Amino acid sequence: MSKRDYYDVLGISKGASADEIKKGYRTKAKELHPDRNSDNPKAEDQFKEANEAHEILKDPEKKAAYDRYGHAAFEGGMGGGGRPGGGGQGDFSSAFSDVFDDLFGDFMGGQRGGGGGRNRAARGSDLRFNLRVSLEDAFSGLQKTINVPTAVNCSSCEGTGADDGAEPTGCPTCSGMGKVRAQQGFFTVERTCPTCSGMGQIIKNPCSSCAGQGRVEKERALSVNIPAGVETGTRIRLSGEGEAGMRGGPSGDLYIFIEVAKHKLFEREGANLFCNVPVSMSSAALGGDIEVPTIDGGRSRVKIPAGSQSGRQMRLRAKGMPALRGAGTGDMFIELAVETPVNLTSRQKELLMEFEDLSEDNNPESKSFFSSVKSFWDGMKG
Ligand SMILES: [Zn+2]
Ligand SMILES: [Zn+2]
Repeated sequence: MSKRDYYDVLGISKGASADEIKKGYRTKAKELHPDRNSDNPKAEDQFKEANEAHEILKDPEKKAAYDRYGHAAFEGGMGGGGRPGGGGQGDFSSAFSDVFDDLFGDFMGGQRGGGGGRNRAARGSDLRFNLRVSLEDAFSGLQKTINVPTAVNCSSCEGTGADDGAEPTGCPTCSGMGKVRAQQGFFTVERTCPTCSGMGQIIKNPCSSCAGQGRVEKERALSVNIPAGVETGTRIRLSGEGEAGMRGGPSGDLYIFIEVAKHKLFEREGANLFCNVPVSMSSAALGGDIEVPTIDGGRSRVKIPAGSQSGRQMRLRAKGMPALRGAGTGDMFIELAVETPVNLTSRQKELLMEFEDLSEDNNPESKSFFSSVKSFWDGMKG
């Protein structure tokens, strides 16, 4: 005899709400109640069947298991006669806990059954430390001491968490498993052990400095080597320099997140640097040498060709940033910004006017350019 679907038993649909389940059960219970069915020998079994269906479906956890696995979720050792409800709840729960063991076995993988105290040495957390460096420092690299607030092994108890240095003992509540299993109706539920918080061990006389944690909060000075070429977003991992583990567990890692501060002169793009260099109008026109500052703190001579326009870009090879990994150095690009002279003396004005006259005489195209601009504007106005 195969088992009927619990929803069918209660005369409800699969997506039934808690209310509908309750209603369906009440209707069936009334209908099948033994007092009303003295002449119907099947009613008693059907009544038990409805009870069983209700027991499962009214409990969200059991309902979920049933929705997922069907009767198989509860059927482990029944087989054979399989009379619904016939075995009583005892059989159900033991059968079901087998299934649940399997589920936990799968879900929790190796965490289980690895002997006592597997959680004894919980690894410490990884830490993040934000470090802002100048572009000059990013260029040359630097050694820097940083103060990291972190948890370190307690010195009073040497990280054991016990006041008298005694070894922690196995937790009696969970027998060192770190988990306790509770029978809830048909179900066996696993929880973190409340006595030892999952550590699997307890400490009889907790260390007063660290309250049995085996670690204390402390600011730690660390010397960090920042390599040349770091950029904003570069992460430097210091293995084992993170938070100390619980009760002597391994420490986490420390990650230093680099932010390179904006530079007042240079813009950076990867390994290349860009900067604007102002040049006087006469230098741009006549050409000449200028000196530009470089990121290494020195200066470089740059030849400006005669007749350079504003916006002209020039490259200084290998005057950029070093590449973080591997060889190579970026370039430095300068962009000329030709400056129009201001606050002219009368003599300078005179010279420029003379220059202007000469320009127009020498270069009739420039005259025709201005007249074409003028006629353009006139056209706009008209
Ligand atoms: Zn301590
Ligand atoms: Zn425990």
